[in-house]
Amino acid sequence: MRQYLDVKERYADALIFFRLGDFYEMFFEDAVVGARALDLTLTTRDKGKDDAVPMCGVPHHASRGYIARLTELGHKVVVVEQVEDPRLAKGLVKREVARIVTPGVVLDDDVLEPKRPRYVACVVTAKDACGLAYLDASTGELAATELPAGALADELARVAPRELLATAKELAGPLAPVRARVRGVAWTTYAALAPRASGLGQRSNEDGHAASGVATALAVDGALTGIAGSEAAPALAKRAAEVVVAYARATQPAGTLPIAALRVYAADDAVVLDEAAIANLELVETLIGKRKVGSLLDVIDATVTAPGGRLLRRWLTFPLRDVPQIRRRQDVVAWLVERPALADRIRRELGEIADLERLAGKATLGIATPRDLGRLRNALARLPELVGLVRSGADKLQPVPELLDGDRGLGACTRPELATLAARLARALADEPPAMLKDGAVIRTGYDATVDDCRRLADGGKDEILGIEEREQKGSGIANLKVRYNRVFGYYIEITKTHLAKVPAHYVRKQTIATGERYVTPELAELERKVLAAEDTLGAREAELFRAEVAAVAVVAASVSAAGAALAVLDACGSLADVAARRGYTRPLVDDGFALAITDGRHPVVESILPPGTFVPNDCRLDPDAEQVVLVTGPNMAGKSTYMRAVAQIALLAQIGSFVPAASATIGVCDRVFTRVGAADDLSRGDSTFMVEMRETASILAKATRRSLVVLDEVGRGTSTFDGVAIAWAVAEHIHDAIGARTLFATHYHELVALADSRPRVRNVHVAVREDDRKKEIVFLRRVVPGGASRSYGIDVARLAGLPKQVIARARGILGVLESGGSAAPRVDTRPPDDSRQLSLLAPVASPLATKLASIDVDNTTPLEALRLLAELKSLA
Ligand code: ATP
Repeated sequence: MRQYLDVKERYADALIFFRLGDFYEMFFEDAVVGARALDLTLTTRDKGKDDAVPMCGVPHHASRGYIARLTELGHKVVVVEQVEDPRLAKGLVKREVARIVTPGVVLDDDVLEPKRPRYVACVVTAKDACGLAYLDASTGELAATELPAGALADELARVAPRELLATAKELAGPLAPVRARVRGVAWTTYAALAPRASGLGQRSNEDGHAASGVATALAVDGALTGIAGSEAAPALAKRAAEVVVAYARATQPAGTLPIAALRVYAADDAVVLDEAAIANLELVETLIGKRKVGSLLDVIDATVTAPGGRLLRRWLTFPLRDVPQIRRRQDVVAWLVERPALADRIRRELGEIADLERLAGKATLGIATPRDLGRLRNALARLPELVGLVRSGADKLQPVPELLDGDRGLGACTRPELATLAARLARALADEPPAMLKDGAVIRTGYDATVDDCRRLADGGKDEILGIEEREQKGSGIANLKVRYNRVFGYYIEITKTHLAKVPAHYVRKQTIATGERYVTPELAELERKVLAAEDTLGAREAELFRAEVAAVAVVAASVSAAGAALAVLDACGSLADVAARRGYTRPLVDDGFALAITDGRHPVVESILPPGTFVPNDCRLDPDAEQVVLVTGPNMAGKSTYMRAVAQIALLAQIGSFVPAASATIGVCDRVFTRVGAADDLSRGDSTFMVEMRETASILAKATRRSLVVLDEVGRGTSTFDGVAIAWAVAEHIHDAIGARTLFATHYHELVALADSRPRVRNVHVAVREDDRKKEIVFLRRVVPGGASRSYGIDVARLAGLPKQVIARARGILGVLESGGSAAPRVDTRPPDDSRQLSLLAPVASPLATKLASIDVDNTTPLEALRLLAELKSLA
């Protein structure tokens, strides 16, 4: 209990898994929390007493699953191990904190998702700016950026960390609104892991970023020493990186984190995607259900390795803006598309190669298993052949593309230290090393004299025992005499009751059992001693040699990881090439112009769900100088949303270097892509449907530039018709007049079609339907054609959806009355329809100011009069 309370005092915010023999136990409040979360039986220590301590436990071999469940719920788990052999310990067995598992720092293969990074992040706030850093402890990927405070929530949406560190003061203050918006993150103070050594206990310490007690205890200052790229980081980004590294280190008292470099980036190096765009365009997960299946990533992810999958996900959430960089990726994709047979072989070969980034990480952390090293050895051994395969595709006219070749491409796979390591592991490791070191047979026979000798002894010992059995059977004349082994007695001879009379005199009786007696002989005892000693020595020697191999990997871990990163690029491009070939995508022309022109574009996800050949392709042209705002009208279900999202997805695909689902496409790079799609309320965040809609619209109007792509689906639908039309109208006008962003604007308000008459860069298109008079039905053609829609078909679609006949009939009746200018409910409301209000809304408004201005005769106004007029106009305004 004293040991336990000592740990608990240091890690008050965590659940303590305290090793007692074969179990991890939790006590006191931890036990109550743990039992509830894991559905365990809560018992007590010293049952019956008044001060009985609540406790619950899990078997040690099943602990990983339980720990995973707790961290998924946002808990931190401190694992306390016995660090002495209980059989040898004098008095109390010594225990120490072995590791801490937090929601963001997870290193367990069973919990990590292969194709998804697991980030722990830190935010450091200043007046208007903040620093953000995030780390995947399993690979050592560390990135940091400094950004305006207002951009934090969006950046967090695309990074999607699992755990976010900040100080208590920041969490309660500047970060409170962000915290309310960002989902799926465990927010925590980083003080939580600073062991509270004497004098550091005061909570106030965690409030400052400067050299506070917590910062000192976590060794935050200087945490980046030796990490390349950290010197150049802006101050806030650097501080955030220091905290996140120090925090992650604190979780691994025994290991070194595999961090080689800090990648400093600016959020607008990539296309800025806000939370709404990531969600609405279903980039990495679906809007409903939050699943990868059905997302854009799912369609383009044909990667065959985990690092390739992680990289492609990152590419999709950070589309590029730099045209040369985009073209370099396109070059690789194109090169592979042109060599389908080779691309196939490369992908098959890649699929055999294990996750080098995570294996390098595990070796550095000292948690690699023999099987891990075996997989690493096999992977390294395949590199030369893979490199040769890629090179074999080169010819004079089309050499290996720049991105694949070079130091960070194939060059990273042919570094001499990798070959040396491969040879070393091949010499040392058995063909199929076991999952756990204690299972033995880790080291290859012939590698080490001690291992060989001990193995011979241990194995030979067993042979000898068989020999003894045979000899004793003959000597005693007892045919069923058996030499056996158990942990209590070691080796013994067992003789059944019927043969007891024949037992030789030199046998020493050890135990009586129901069916007979057990004996030992001096010869057996001596042999046993030798075998056991050999097994012990063998185990120790194998462990020693294995640790040396792990250390050898750790020394060149950065190179292993770099090779892994190079293969990830090959895999991600291979995936894009594979999808392009299978789905008929083409290479878009990406340039620094502003035009966006798509011929026969398709929605990548909808297309993949529909039967082949049934998706109706459509064109799109957007250009800030000519066709800037395209108003999309058409009935419900016609395909407006599909059309607009397809355009946005095609633009993003083009900017990650992918081919696109279109006959041809020119994409002038976008700096930001905005979407406002459909109506979704977010009551859990305290926003009504309309509020969400207006908030998203406000954000777009505030941030969009001439280079942006804006997709607005239904602005102003969440309120009354007049309000809605007014807002939609004003928003469209503002985008046209003041922002100049390329915009697709879908609306049910036909009134907006008139905007094209007064604004030069507004175009109308509609999604065509055919009215089948015979069947009295509408047929969706899915074709986008010039011009605005003439009527809406809401009631027809309602009929298709199965509204009762009477309701449909009544709706048609009411519509007729409304359209002829009457009122549908004369008894309730007998006022004549207020047509004038709607007209005045859409016609230019005559204001007193305008009237006055129009009346001024400038040619006949003196300077003095002009001043007076100015004063008058000002007061009118
Ligand atoms: P609403 O106004 O009700 O939101 P909408 O006009 O936005 O409707 P969508 O949601 O885009 O309509 O499309 C409705 C369905 O039509 C889609 O789910 C899809 O199955 C089908 N669809 C849309 N576009 C196409 C197309 N080009 N080819 C084939 N099917 C399509």
